[in-house]
Amino acid sequence: MRLVKILLFLCVLPSFIEATTVSIGVLVSQKLTTIIFSPLSGDYVITADSARIILGNKDLAYLTYSNGKISLKTLKGKIGTYSAIRIESVRETGTFKFKPVIPYGTLRSYDDDLEIRVVGKHLRVINHVNLDKYVAGVVKSEVGIASSLELYKVQAIICRTYSLSNFRKHEADNYQLCDKVHCQVYAGRCAVTDPETGIMYSGAERITKAASMTSGIIIVDDNLELVTAAFHSNCGGQTANSEDVWSKPLPYLRSVRDTFCSHGRDARWKRRIPEKKWFSYLTKSCGLDPTESKFAKNATSFSQGKRGRYFAGNQNIPLHKIRRDWRFKSAYFSIYKQYDDLIFSGKGFGHGVGLCQQGAMVMTDHGIDYKKIIHHYYTDVTLIDIGSLKYLLK
Ligand SMILES: [Zn+2]
Ligand SMILES: [Zn+2]
Repeated sequence: MRLVKILLFLCVLPSFIEATTVSIGVLVSQKLTTIIFSPLSGDYVITADSARIILGNKDLAYLTYSNGKISLKTLKGKIGTYSAIRIESVRETGTFKFKPVIPYGTLRSYDDDLEIRVVGKHLRVINHVNLDKYVAGVVKSEVGIASSLELYKVQAIICRTYSLSNFRKHEADNYQLCDKVHCQVYAGRCAVTDPETGIMYSGAERITKAASMTSGIIIVDDNLELVTAAFHSNCGGQTANSEDVWSKPLPYLRSVRDTFCSHGRDARWKRRIPEKKWFSYLTKSCGLDPTESKFAKNATSFSQGKRGRYFAGNQNIPLHKIRRDWRFKSAYFSIYKQYDDLIFSGKGFGHGVGLCQQGAMVMTDHGIDYKKIIHHYYTDVTLIDIGSLKYLLK
């Protein structure tokens, strides 16, 4: 059966399989009207409508919105006004600096190419970038620079899987993904040196290495479909089933025990809430009478040895709703009474579904490799290399 599925997968390859570059909408919510582009390494060529302009290494392009078009200036002066501009690296390794001027923004650096178009009364800026370079940029923005190579490999594979399964998220905007948390946070290339401050980030090299070492690897489920590779900070010792948080049961997002995160930064939390306030919440938000004899005891003395789905077994009160309403760090909590207050004693931080980042970090410290970590948190998944699939097809 599995062989049939693989053969089917090979015959009907999804469109993402050919993807080696991605198009990312840059700062799209900021309605940019003026930006500066300048090459950081390598030469660039500007294609402005039908014109071609070589941009030298020390030159810069000043682009501004002007009456439905883009006005282009370089250090030589005004070049012209165009409807669309593409600035492409002559070689594969080109990098450039990008500075939003109106509205003001910090200097960033990016890999590969830039496209500028007019949308409404502002500029739309799109970074066309190699997939692995994009993956490295996202991992640096979302995970930071202080982790191990093995953890970066895990995050790179998760990021790549997410990117490819969301390739059409911004189809209507004419780019594939945005650079905000809506898709994945991407603040530019995974640079060792910050272009604005000059600060060196030695960890950036590990991230780039992890992205290229895992190049092409994605996570698929039993049906050979890309998984929703959910992750969170700390599961508190047990991850959650997907349906406990998002209603939809997914076979690879099953609750698993995790002994690795118990000493993590977010392993425990506590909140003190007056009993009256808690009762009023249960009455108003959940339509329950906490003074009703049977329920009253559960409402003030509740424990989750294993993770549950509902508060005190009542299906009107999903635990993740309580977490959201009270902004608790997790839905994995117990309650005990202390005088007129209730103490909410919780474990973990985040929704609890999928990979536990702090657990995964400790696993890498124990020498456990990225494949085992992924298989620990995602049930019955397969790691597939898109490149080898393509090779098989030839
Ligand atoms: Zn988005
Ligand atoms: Zn955990």
